Amino acid sequence: FNNKVKMVEAPQGYGGEGFFATSFDKVIGLARKNSIWPLPFATSCCGIEFMATMGAHYDLARFGAERMGFTPRQCDVLLVMGTISKKMGPVLRQVYLQMAEPRWVIAVGACASSGGIFDTYSVLQGIDQVIPVDVYVPGCPPRPEAILDGFMKVQELVHNESLRRRHSPQYKELMNSYGIE
Ligand code: SF4
Repeated sequence: FNNKVKMVEAPQGYGGEGFFATSFDKVIGLARKNSIWPLPFATSCCGIEFMATMGAHYDLARFGAERMGFTPRQCDVLLVMGTISKKMGPVLRQVYLQMAEPRWVIAVGACASSGGIFDTYSVLQGIDQVIPVDVYVPGCPPRPEAILDGFMKVQELVHNESLRRRHSPQYKELMNSYGIE
């Protein structure tokens, strides 16, 4: 060490002339957060805003997420956009279960978050009734900026998550509360 040692922001750690020290968790987190493969699960209007989010103007690819996946096994973040009927609930849950750990979920818009304006017998009043949700994006529909903001919040979670979290009793308890072994 010398007096040029200073704290740097990403990945968090110590850097000086010719060296940098950080934790393994932070390096993995940095790599993961910039190589997220999203899985879009769009059923209605919010999905259109997501198309705009992927377009050249808003360009989700800037965050390392240009590679859309349409098979759950290859994806890291499930974006649920639109009204989810109760009949669709088990399908959504099945898609979630097919994703490999670590996996994250964003509820995009009012319908996915709470049922939105569809307070009826046939609509799920929030996807967190069937799967755990990491980030909720408000709006009906949310603008692409809001979707980007939600995505960046997931990036923060990914970056700061300990590699041990998925094996922790708290995480197992959360999964058990959803009936997931
Ligand atoms: Fe459509 Fe609004 Fe529901 Fe989004 S939140 S799917 S815009 S009704």
